[in-house]
Amino acid sequence: MVLEPRFFAIQRLISTHSAPSPAILLQLMAAPRSQLEYGLALWRPNKSQINSLLSIIARPLRQYLSLPTSAHRVSVLTEFGLLDINSMRNKCVLQLASRLLRLPPDHPSHQMWLTDSTPITKTQLFCRPIALEAKACADLTGITLPATNIDILSAVHVHNTSTYLQSDKGKALKEIRSTYGEPPLYFKSRNITHIKVRARLRFDLAPLNNSLHRRALSPSPFCTCGQTVESRDHVLLDCPIYNQPRLQLNAASRTIRSILDVFSPQTTAFILEVHRIRHLIRS
Ligand SMILES: [Zn+2]
Repeated sequence: MVLEPRFFAIQRLISTHSAPSPAILLQLMAAPRSQLEYGLALWRPNKSQINSLLSIIARPLRQYLSLPTSAHRVSVLTEFGLLDINSMRNKCVLQLASRLLRLPPDHPSHQMWLTDSTPITKTQLFCRPIALEAKACADLTGITLPATNIDILSAVHVHNTSTYLQSDKGKALKEIRSTYGEPPLYFKSRNITHIKVRARLRFDLAPLNNSLHRRALSPSPFCTCGQTVESRDHVLLDCPIYNQPRLQLNAASRTIRSILDVFSPQTTAFILEVHRIRHLIRS
């Protein structure tokens, strides 16, 4: 796939000592993504091609957050506020159809919207599939065509979030994430280690004994405090080893969602202190 080397180039950039901020990373990703979107309105990728595209886009993002390869790819895109491939395609189809519908009434592309005649002209042959798809996408997202790019983006994001929330993957992230369709606030942090540690915890993919034991990477699932298994919730909410740093959080904010989704000096300091004690990312 022609775009793959461009995403690989971004991966190489991330692996240098001075990784860019999440905002810069998203800007770097925007160029190859817009190239992909240019073709997506007319190209109908099959299931395997969609799968490949998902991997190509998710790979540098996953690497940036220091997440293991087991991280759910659509959740990785969701964490960055990006659409999955199907929604990206819906957006492109709706945008193209809106542009075509705004052409002058005598433009031949308007023939594409005739529904009860057999395609007879070259224009109809070319455009009819786009019209049918655009109608299906409009029904799916509840939008009326033609629509502005802002309205299309908003409707597609709502549908994308709804599809994601209905899926049975990404449970750990769904448990704590409160907003969708935009990057999370902790991406504003200037500390890349903090971003990686928080991401690992948000995906519940930090190297803690409970998950390591499930993958046969630790002999025991138990925490060194000896009380219970070393899970994300135990470490952040209950484990006595972290009682002192936990005092930085007021009582009301000692919930998994508050600790991992609220970006504040207190939650950041707590997460970094837990990381100092337990080391939650691999270098
Ligand atoms: Zn413990």
